[in-house]
Amino acid sequence: MNTEFDIVIIGGGAAGLSCALSMDRLGFHVAVIEQAPETALENPRFDGRELALTHHTIAWLKDYNVWPHFALSQVTPLQRADILSGHDAARAARKLLSFESMDTPSEERAPLGYLVAHHVIRKALYEEVRKRENITVICGKDALRSGAHAEEAHMDLDDGRRFHARLIVAADGRFSRARAQRGIGAVTHDFRRHILVCRLSHTRPHHDIATQWFDEGQTLAFLPVGEKSADGRDCSSLVLTLKPDDISRLAHMAAPDFVNDIAQRLQGQLGAIDLVSARCTYPLKAVYAHRFRAARFALIGDAAVGMHPITAHGFNFGLKGQETLARKIADGAGDPGEPRLLRQFEMAHRRDTMPLFAATNAIATLYTRDAPLSLKLREATLQFAQNSNPLKRFVARVLSDH
Ligand SMILES: Cc1cc2nc3c(=O)[nH]c(=O)nc-3n(C[C@H](O)[C@H](O)[C@H](O)COP(=O)(O)OP(=O)(O)OC[C@H]3O[C@@H](n4cnc5c(N)ncnc54)[C@H](O)[C@@H]3O)c2cc1C
Repeated sequence: MNTEFDIVIIGGGAAGLSCALSMDRLGFHVAVIEQAPETALENPRFDGRELALTHHTIAWLKDYNVWPHFALSQVTPLQRADILSGHDAARAARKLLSFESMDTPSEERAPLGYLVAHHVIRKALYEEVRKRENITVICGKDALRSGAHAEEAHMDLDDGRRFHARLIVAADGRFSRARAQRGIGAVTHDFRRHILVCRLSHTRPHHDIATQWFDEGQTLAFLPVGEKSADGRDCSSLVLTLKPDDISRLAHMAAPDFVNDIAQRLQGQLGAIDLVSARCTYPLKAVYAHRFRAARFALIGDAAVGMHPITAHGFNFGLKGQETLARKIADGAGDPGEPRLLRQFEMAHRRDTMPLFAATNAIATLYTRDAPLSLKLREATLQFAQNSNPLKRFVARVLSDH
């Protein structure tokens, strides 16, 4: 088998596969190394994540023919996002901060963004990747280590093979081993909380509205899902943040007990509820790599910037990072590992991601503090923002990347 490529990408997640499509369009021969078996790419399992996609991301997915793979019911327009603070749901709902869909330059009302499940996006990306002759996907293999000389990089697989390329791209997730192995550290913000995500069916219609509720002692979000339950009810994705032990207890509870517990936490906000999916859990750790490059080596996706999900930007940044890398390579002299263009990529991607990474961590920290002063500050900032239309428009534009 050929072991000489222009670019080797470590990781066949959403970021790695997107990058493969971009590099293929530039005319490069690309290998993607993925440790999971091929079935995990052909039919990725539901993992609870409903990704809010910005307009920029949607434009990219359309340009690369990924968007047409989604069924209509798998794409949910986000018409409004409400933010609530405080324990009493009824009181919090009267003092909410609300972002509506926006007027676009063409005078049409555009949704804030669209929600598509992560496993659906991964499947669609892989279906497109498979059509490209110049992309080779090697599954079930662990990328052990990489290194570089001035003219060439190499990467060793766990089966003893050595791959040669002009550029290695690490897209192996937020706890990236490839990053550490090349001596690149990362700032890690451990929120000491875990997340549980699952789909609920409910009797109250969601009207394509997402709600982020900073309760006391817990944070809940419900995101509208276009697909209906078997009995025709609306469905939402629940995102619950609690201490790790509490999340573990809820994840392993019998389903009827879980539904009762969640119903109490929701205070009737979705009406009567039922559990209609598996429950998935994640540790809440945000990660920002000290550098996004080394010799003939670049970091993209969560390996570069692993966001707290509250501002819904992890994949959006992952897509943007690989797009920036591809643009810099396209502007170069033909060598994708040229140090100057990797430096330019790093500067541009840091500029794109650092402000929102810092703001997201600050919001997530302030809005999970329940001291009386913090609660007052939380409510006051929401009220201030609600009464400031220019500020709301600015935030909506940043988050939806219009
Ligand atoms: C609850 C939740 C909600 C979210 N909501 C949003 C949202 O609304 N909007 C948004 O934009 N983002 C959201 N995100 C973030 C988004 O899911 C991630 O940013 C994105 O999936 C990361 O993709 P990735 O390809 O960088 O990493 P990963 O998905 O982690 O993929 C890494 C891949 O590399 C492979 N791999 C690892 N090590 C090796 C190795 N040594 N050799 C070979 N292969 C390897 C892994 O098997 C994996 O397939 C959310 C995340 C969570 C947890």
